[in-house]
Amino acid sequence: MSCDPYALALDGVLKLTPYQPGKPVSELERELGLSSVIKLASNENPLGPSPLALAAMQKSLSGLGEYPDGNGFALKSALAARFQLQATQITLGNGSNDILELLARAFLKPGLKSVFSEHAFAVYPLATIATGAECKVVPALPADSAMPMGHDLDAMAAALSEDVRLVFVANPNNPTGTWAEQEPLRRFLEKVPAHCIAVLDEAYTEYVEEGRFESPKALLADFPNLIITRTFSKAWGLAGLRVGYGLSSPAIADLLNRVRQPFNVNAVALAAAAAALSDNDHILQSRVINNSGLQQWREACDQLGLDYLPSLGNFLAINVQRDGQAVFDALLRKGVITRTVGVYGMPQWLRVSIGTAEQNDFAIRALHEVLSTS
Ligand SMILES: *Cc1c(COP(=O)(O)O)cnc(C)c1O
Repeated sequence: MSCDPYALALDGVLKLTPYQPGKPVSELERELGLSSVIKLASNENPLGPSPLALAAMQKSLSGLGEYPDGNGFALKSALAARFQLQATQITLGNGSNDILELLARAFLKPGLKSVFSEHAFAVYPLATIATGAECKVVPALPADSAMPMGHDLDAMAAALSEDVRLVFVANPNNPTGTWAEQEPLRRFLEKVPAHCIAVLDEAYTEYVEEGRFESPKALLADFPNLIITRTFSKAWGLAGLRVGYGLSSPAIADLLNRVRQPFNVNAVALAAAAAALSDNDHILQSRVINNSGLQQWREACDQLGLDYLPSLGNFLAINVQRDGQAVFDALLRKGVITRTVGVYGMPQWLRVSIGTAEQNDFAIRALHEVLSTS
């Protein structure tokens, strides 16, 4: 018997191209025989997790013979207290990526659509297409606008036809780093019709200074069709554990709860995330390091004569003015892993995650060498 699984798979699945993750340090070290590779590729926090999270992980290990708490009581309680919300408004995910997938599963099917911006996070099309639904990609703001290559919220609102069930707004967006301020964002949310769920992806929001963006409580009070997604992968330094969450109305949370796996967040992640929340100093310290690192990279780009996009995240999109893949490859040979963004429609750009001052310095020097010899 011969079997062609491709002939059996769903159309949406056949249309997918797998997500390209940042290259792991261990892989490049193996390839180059180096032992000092720097990874500035996946927007991880160079400080890693809070010591409180590490201690909680250690402590959780003895309980690993049992299933995790499928309702995530302790973590939801900690999040509810932090955001002054009800636990019924929280959905936990295996990374916030999981929440994005759950949204697609609950609200999309063939014949329906999602809307997102050009240059927006790569998971939006993946989650959409897997369901057989279609993507409506809205052109980004022009490169010479006040927020170059950022989301055009007016055009996105205008794209929300009857068949659109999800609209994704990343604030700030990855890989551009661009953002929407409070007022324009609110005006946009007011225009999202009742037949559409607004997904506000705030994966990097802990890097944004307090008070610049509205709180989840304030936004959720006014927009019943809104879900805010957040993660412990970025500023909280727990990318390897895979834990994120959604904040929404209890109704949206209930629907997502119906399609998630019963134990979608593992026990170590639940323990670590709950403990991490009590170490806000870790976030403040990470923000300080990130701000000075961003400054270090901006000054370096200015010296190298390279343009970059405004960023509120822990990364910078840099226009290298030549094939981004070639610069990426040359940097790899010097032991520096960055990220190409050709799949985001930015073939001449690189995205660099902000590291420690030493890591940035090393990578900047490598970039300088690469550009002066190419
Ligand atoms: C990294 C990222 C996420 C998801 O990360 P998880 O590790 O799955 O929580 C979501 N949105 C954006 C914009 C991101 O950059």
